[in-house]
Amino acid sequence: MKKLALHWQIIIGMAAGILFGILAVRFGFGEFVKDWIAPFGKIFINLLKLIAIPLIVASLIKGISDLKDISKLSAMGGRTIGIYLMTTIVAVTIGLLLVNIVKPGNLLDEQTRTELLGDYKEDAAKRQQAAANQKETGPLQALVDMVPSNIIKASGENQMLQVIFFVVFFGIGLILIPPEKAAPVKDFFDGLNDVILKMIDLIMLAAPYGVFALLAALIVNSPSVGLFKALIGYSATVLAGLGVMIFVIYPLLVKTFTGRSYGFFFKGISPAQLLAFSTSSSAATLPVTMERVEEHLGVESEVTSFVCPIGATINMDGTSLYQAVAAVFIAQAMGIDLTFGDQLTIVMTATLASIGSAAVPGAGMVMLVIVLAAIGVPEEGLALIFAVDRILDMCRTSVNVTGDATVAMLVAKSIGKLGDPKVKDWDDHYAKS
Ligand code: ASP
Repeated sequence: MKKLALHWQIIIGMAAGILFGILAVRFGFGEFVKDWIAPFGKIFINLLKLIAIPLIVASLIKGISDLKDISKLSAMGGRTIGIYLMTTIVAVTIGLLLVNIVKPGNLLDEQTRTELLGDYKEDAAKRQQAAANQKETGPLQALVDMVPSNIIKASGENQMLQVIFFVVFFGIGLILIPPEKAAPVKDFFDGLNDVILKMIDLIMLAAPYGVFALLAALIVNSPSVGLFKALIGYSATVLAGLGVMIFVIYPLLVKTFTGRSYGFFFKGISPAQLLAFSTSSSAATLPVTMERVEEHLGVESEVTSFVCPIGATINMDGTSLYQAVAAVFIAQAMGIDLTFGDQLTIVMTATLASIGSAAVPGAGMVMLVIVLAAIGVPEEGLALIFAVDRILDMCRTSVNVTGDATVAMLVAKSIGKLGDPKVKDWDDHYAKS
């Protein structure tokens, strides 16, 4: 019997998880889910995170040494950052246009507003504190933070940019030594890379069960649906913007610049999108994003290994779009008029704030405080959007990951590194693992 395609397996796992969660709430076995189901979701995420740093190290070293000369690396670096910035600015602009047209803040009635501000005051204060800690640093802190003083510690703390810095530096050293000396080191990392990719295949076999556990636990822990209804205008605006990015902008960019079809793109990337949705973390999804981009979208490994990890940390189009919509929504709901200059400030700060957001659940909301502060909107306003943040986080993370894959394809195409996918029959690939 032909095995069901992986994305269908994941979708079934997600649907079953949601259903199970709803039944658990309805029939009062939520505790059972928390004790006996949720830990499997956690184990699944741990496995993904476990593999992320070794994957970045092995694949990036292999990738850079394959480039053979440093000018190629800087060309790729320039393009990657440039295109990432452009897609983020497009995303913020789409968010701003939508929120200014729909004006969801005006749909919120006075009573709901007061209730929300009261209910989520404490949560909002926690986010403000987290953001304040981040703000108390000088202008060059981001640069300082990129350079680790201890690589083991950096890896232990999952400091992705620090690890990338070290690995790129190492790769440059490797290119510069005589080829006969470099060969064994390169062979080692080549082999290691293959082992790690195989480990990801194995982890993905558990993906349908992992997402089942994650979503069942999420439903059991989530607030009531009533609040979602009150915030429907805001949520719909964010979702519409994210929809435009994922279903229009990215496939259009891919089609225009690489000639690859809509179906090809989605077939290739959908398991990573679904996983991003279930985990709300681009960092946890990274190993799968890289595997899909390389093996199913045809991006050569030297590009994948460079563009995707950097993207997971700095390219968050979904997050920046959400931050723009949320900032304007809060201003509208609090009756604050924003000038054109304020809107431009949002474009700038949301772009920077999304770059600064960590690739973990809820990070985008912490950084939203910075956008609010820049346009003079009270930070307590965060309380207004708390109730629906998790579901929007899931969706924006899918967009973030899709953006990384898109840019990887564009960069690869621009330097002649986009080929045929290694895995043509993508279902079989997992079945054989
Ligand atoms: N959860 C998002 C991510 O990992 C970041 C955010 O909160 O927007 O991509």
